[in-house]
Amino acid sequence: LAKDRGKNNFQFYTLEMTEKSIERMKVERGLRHALAHDELRLHYQPQVCTDSGVVVSAEALVRWQHPEWGLVYPDRFITVAEETGLIVPIGAWVLREACLQAKTWIENDGPFGGVAVNVSARQFLDTNLFQTVKRTLAETGLNPSALELEITESAIMQDPENTLQVLHQFQGLGVRLSIDDFGTGYSSLTYLRRFPIQSVKIDRSFVIDLPGDEGSKTLVRAITALAHELKLSVIVEGVETKDQLSFLTEQKCDSLQGYMFSRPVSAEQFQQDFINSGFKTYLPNTSNDQP
Ligand code: C2E
Ligand code: MG
Ligand code: MG
Ligand code: MG
Repeated sequence: LAKDRGKNNFQFYTLEMTEKSIERMKVERGLRHALAHDELRLHYQPQVCTDSGVVVSAEALVRWQHPEWGLVYPDRFITVAEETGLIVPIGAWVLREACLQAKTWIENDGPFGGVAVNVSARQFLDTNLFQTVKRTLAETGLNPSALELEITESAIMQDPENTLQVLHQFQGLGVRLSIDDFGTGYSSLTYLRRFPIQSVKIDRSFVIDLPGDEGSKTLVRAITALAHELKLSVIVEGVETKDQLSFLTEQKCDSLQGYMFSRPVSAEQFQQDFINSGFKTYLPNTSNDQP
């Protein structure tokens, strides 16, 4: 009996493995097709300046408009893209699209000043990354200071010395750098001082339980104080409620991003909601002297 059960488990295990690898193969083949047939899309999520309440920038987030599967989110394909190296051409496409879009929004003469693009560890291993960014900026005419590259702590930790070298090249180019999902990795404190970055992006996991949870409050306060001490700006992701918003505003976090303001939306929608809206303010009045 034990022998039979072992055998069944083995079969079950291999079946699951096969299903997984079939799914991966489908995604990989699909991604190649997507790149060649223009199925990738960028959605943009507003980043709101805490002082002024206006939308000053956006994070570009990739989606895949599959003819049968519908709109596919990065959770389903970024890992496969990283493992197959397809993230390199995908990343180059994202960068170009985001720079072109940001350029037209900046020319609108409103408060909008720039776009943030995610870069994964695998892209840093590509020796052409710096040249790709430099060329894209030159070709699209976007001011380097209007581009922010978001790198996760764990990406930095995969090869800190190489990453540091590339980050210094970016610094020389005038591109802004921020650490994404900040607080979820380790060694953050040492690297915060060593890396030529301008901002840290506090991870959503520290925001979810605000403002009720003392631990989360302490961490957000501590990270913000430390970042400001190091002259870094603080952006917070995953802001969903008014109570989170008031706490984060009190802590003097510099900018905020989250469903409270908007989900990531298409370029057309972003243009309508945030570029053509003048200097609309997105902060509810939190002062006490209002009824
Ligand atoms: P991320 O860079 O940390 O992006 C934040 C994610 O949180 C996005 O998910 C965004 O839609 C979601 N989010 C924003 N505000 C809220 C909120 O208030 N509540 C909740 N529950 N979620 C919120 P998304 O777009 O599915 O992207 C997931 C991850 O995929 C990104 O995490 C990033 O690591 C990766 N990614 C997305 N686009 C790219 C890309 O162009 N290149 C690379 N290399 N990675 C990308
Ligand atoms: Mg990000
Ligand atoms: Mg993040
Ligand atoms: Mg994240």
